[in-house]
Amino acid sequence: MTGGAGIPEGVDAGGDAACWLGLLCPDCGAVREPATAAECWRCGAALPRDRDSP
Ligand SMILES: [Zn+2]
Repeated sequence: MTGGAGIPEGVDAGGDAACWLGLLCPDCGAVREPATAAECWRCGAALPRDRDSP
């Protein structure tokens, strides 16, 4: 594996919308924070963890 692939230095997360789809609350659309949160910080909805951490 090569490091540094995907996100150029100096670019904040949010460039690729598709990457955010899995981080959005299905109920209210809030961005999951932190990304590993088990429930929405805004509405408290349970967030599915369908993406394993690398
Ligand atoms: Zn929510």
